[in-house]
Amino acid sequence: MICSQEKIEYGKQTIKFDLVRESRKTLSINVLPSLNVQVKAPIEQPLEKIFAKIKTRAKWISKQQQFFNGKFHFDYFPKFISGETHLYLGKQYRLKNIIDKKTKSVKLKNGYFIISCSNNLEIENLLKNWYKEKASQVFEQQLDFCFKDFRKYGIKKPLLKIRKFKKRWGSYNKSKNIITLNIDLIKTNKICINYVLYHELSHCLYYNHNTQFYELLEKHCKNWKSIKNKLEGYNL
Ligand SMILES: [Zn+2]
Repeated sequence: MICSQEKIEYGKQTIKFDLVRESRKTLSINVLPSLNVQVKAPIEQPLEKIFAKIKTRAKWISKQQQFFNGKFHFDYFPKFISGETHLYLGKQYRLKNIIDKKTKSVKLKNGYFIISCSNNLEIENLLKNWYKEKASQVFEQQLDFCFKDFRKYGIKKPLLKIRKFKKRWGSYNKSKNIITLNIDLIKTNKICINYVLYHELSHCLYYNHNTQFYELLEKHCKNWKSIKNKLEGYNL
């Protein structure tokens, strides 16, 4: 195994990587959680060919690095200024502030969050309240949708609460029969929201994450593993 450190320039970006030469047929590129890029290449492959291949994957490499760097974090310290991107149900909307002394409102239109208010210090609160309102409507609606599949097990429909969690998407309180969802779920899509609801509803029958729990979850949410991975990408 021969190891060397290499770099290529791609646009404004410099991609540094560790090159490992080994007996193999194809080239592989790996981005590690440390953000280091590791390239494994066949022993005889010319360096130019390796560079060319890495250039074709440059976008992917930078996306992977952003992912590990937690750039998809919801709390990326938004400034609540025009032009900034905010998420709602898995889609990105750009903030547009309209100074209006009479009305306070938040509207979604053509890819924009249009926020009318008299001074831009109000944007953050207006947006927070808007998310809260939408979350309670959408989560309630999705709970009804998911609970339809669980009614047959003879359980009572849980009450729904919403709060901000730092490290989880949802929880279930058995003694109070309450499902609590993370408000930030409103920034993901309905598939993700339903997955978290199916997970918590499965806890109504099985409190622990045992085999029966996962069998029940899988019955109602077949691709839960890939949805869970997607949610992990949001990196709370
Ligand atoms: Zn659980």
